[in-house]
Amino acid sequence: MKWSSHKKITGKIGKYFGVRDTKALNEASILPDKEYDYRIVKVKKHGKKYEKKVRLRHHLEPFIINKIIDYTIEARRWKVRNSKNYIIPLGKAAHYIQDNVIDPRKKILFFKVKDKKTHDKIESQIDKLNVPFEEVYKVEKMKFTLSDFEKELKRRKPTTDPEKAMKNATYLTAMLMKLVLKPEYPDNFWSKYRRIKIVTILGAFFGIGVISVGYIFSNPLIMLMGGSTTAAFLTNPLFWERRKDAKFLRGDL
Ligand SMILES: [Zn+2]
Repeated sequence: MKWSSHKKITGKIGKYFGVRDTKALNEASILPDKEYDYRIVKVKKHGKKYEKKVRLRHHLEPFIINKIIDYTIEARRWKVRNSKNYIIPLGKAAHYIQDNVIDPRKKILFFKVKDKKTHDKIESQIDKLNVPFEEVYKVEKMKFTLSDFEKELKRRKPTTDPEKAMKNATYLTAMLMKLVLKPEYPDNFWSKYRRIKIVTILGAFFGIGVISVGYIFSNPLIMLMGGSTTAAFLTNPLFWERRKDAKFLRGDL
């Protein structure tokens, strides 16, 4: 996306959710095009293993949602501590969100081909559009967690349609801003979290109890049953998701 588009979307929505230093935020929103992010890849060549630094792509990058979530977490951590340092990761997260809504490929029959002309055309069309604020108002009224944000990032696939891309960029940037600056979790979040926490702990202890019974009677089958019960409770993904959401809100992630 063009720098002017990044600044326009990020600055306007950031300001709406209470960012005072929008100038710093605007600059942060184009930072990933100046200071590249990398990821480490393990490669094997001629039987030798080594690590390689690979530049993170901004379009059609399978790892981009992880990066967006990392920066969102970092921004929240600083925000909770009342530090201005939240601006940089917040701007970077917005940048990747906005690049990722665009599919820069051209359709040729049944294939999609990478094409610079298509990419530039979509980006200049987007640059002419206004930020559709009705999307921001929609998000403002919503109550959602970090996991909900991640699911929405995955759900809204990159598109070749400039208006749809702008709409998605606005919606997702608004979700980011709200989550970091003025988060509101669903009303039943904490009661649900407490419940699953208790069930997980009790379930794990029950499993440990079964292991002990198996041990006392030196019955490996009962021990195995206890072990798998404990494992089943401790690896419940819903528990870990809620725990992550809770920690994120408190800036503890
Ligand atoms: Zn970019």
